[in-house]
Amino acid sequence: MPKKYHIHPKATPLELDYFFKFKIVRGENCINCGKCTKVCIYQAHKRSEADPRIMADPNTVVCKNCFRCIQECPRGALEKSLDKVYLNTGGAYWKPDMLLTLYKQSEDGNVPVSGAGYRGPFTGTGFDSMWTDMSEIVRPTRDGIHGREYISTSIDLGRRLNHLVFGAEGQLISKVPDTVEISLPIMFDTPAEKLSSSIKLAMVKAAAELNTFVIIPVADITAEFEKHSDNIIPRMTASEIDTHKEIIKKARIVSVDCDNSVLNGLADLKDKIKKIGNALCIIRVPAVKDVEYTVNKLAHDGAEIIHVVADYRGQEINSPAGSGSRHLKDIIRSVHLRLVEDKLRDEVIIMASGGIALAEHVTKAMLCGADLTAIDLPLMVGLGGRIYEEQKQILVLPEGLSKLPNSVITQRMVNLMAAWHSQILEMMGAMGIREARRLRGESGRAIFFEEIDRDTFGKLFLK
Ligand code: SF4
Ligand code: SF4
Repeated sequence: MPKKYHIHPKATPLELDYFFKFKIVRGENCINCGKCTKVCIYQAHKRSEADPRIMADPNTVVCKNCFRCIQECPRGALEKSLDKVYLNTGGAYWKPDMLLTLYKQSEDGNVPVSGAGYRGPFTGTGFDSMWTDMSEIVRPTRDGIHGREYISTSIDLGRRLNHLVFGAEGQLISKVPDTVEISLPIMFDTPAEKLSSSIKLAMVKAAAELNTFVIIPVADITAEFEKHSDNIIPRMTASEIDTHKEIIKKARIVSVDCDNSVLNGLADLKDKIKKIGNALCIIRVPAVKDVEYTVNKLAHDGAEIIHVVADYRGQEINSPAGSGSRHLKDIIRSVHLRLVEDKLRDEVIIMASGGIALAEHVTKAMLCGADLTAIDLPLMVGLGGRIYEEQKQILVLPEGLSKLPNSVITQRMVNLMAAWHSQILEMMGAMGIREARRLRGESGRAIFFEEIDRDTFGKLFLK
């Protein structure tokens, strides 16, 4: 049995303020009896240090929303209400609760446990309209998260052969392509917003610890990144290749943005990269309408890895939400099925990104047909970043972030991936799938609300 993959989380609180769901307010009718100091085991209520006869303002930061102080206050003096910042942060896709979850996971690496059943809506849009078949959850030996059964989350990157060819003497004739193995079906991508080089360096260190990669625009790769080239994927346009030969030479994988020159000359591009070093090549394709045709052409022409990039809400690029644009889950399903029809699916790796906001989205994207995913915004939210969907600047990072020790930023990213890894193991165990490689395209393990809806009510309401 291969050595088990472990991620080591460590409690790493941030000194920077984040927002809260509820705020607690102590009313005028408080009689300073101090009962709330005793009932709150998280010490959200304390007496004022300046004057112990009166109560200090409640400390919302440590409150776990158990409501015990509210219930037990003899005067009904405590009130909890939704915080204004909470109500104005995030948006319809990046819900504030989601941001709080990512922030918390980055703090301690623990799997979120609600313990009171799921109280959210039955279905929604995007990944929320997709349910997974967890029928194996009742199997008594199932214990993926606690390590009794071995579940692998490793993924191989690189072109694959459809079949092997042997000579008359039984010797292997096929040239087996190079592959690179990563331990998680997740890579890091750098967000469009400008990041300081210390944050990028911390991302690279986290990627090295996790045995995965960070995709970084080649122009941002300065000398300080040199010794980390094993975990960096330089991203460039085809025309930038000649100017960055030294970086390409050291890289194990490079990412090239798809344009007409790439689409019409993939073989030449791959040759050019192979002559510089021995890197695998990712072709980065925006998830525009009809992206499946581009993906098919690239796969047909020998692409090794194709990265399909939707917008930050997982929608098709250049299609406003609500205009009939597809979500990443539908784009990937369509891309996958088209490759299957053309008997190309087993030869190419498909990476999906855009709108991957939670661990379950990784598993769901893979069930739809992706081999792996890439993330950017969840890492930034884990560092205290806030997302404002309706504003020009979508991601706002907290002031002072770049002054934090690099080790803190790295550890928070490792923590987030530890939490996601545990959740992916849990989902895979519950689905009875022990290898992440086998998640790809297993849509029989998923139920799609739109399909049930159409099958059930379509006959009545659709013409
Ligand atoms: S229990 Fe109620 S009345 Fe007593 S100190 Fe706390 S808030 Fe004030
Ligand atoms: S709601 Fe619970 S955790 Fe929060 S302050 Fe009151 S007793 Fe403490």
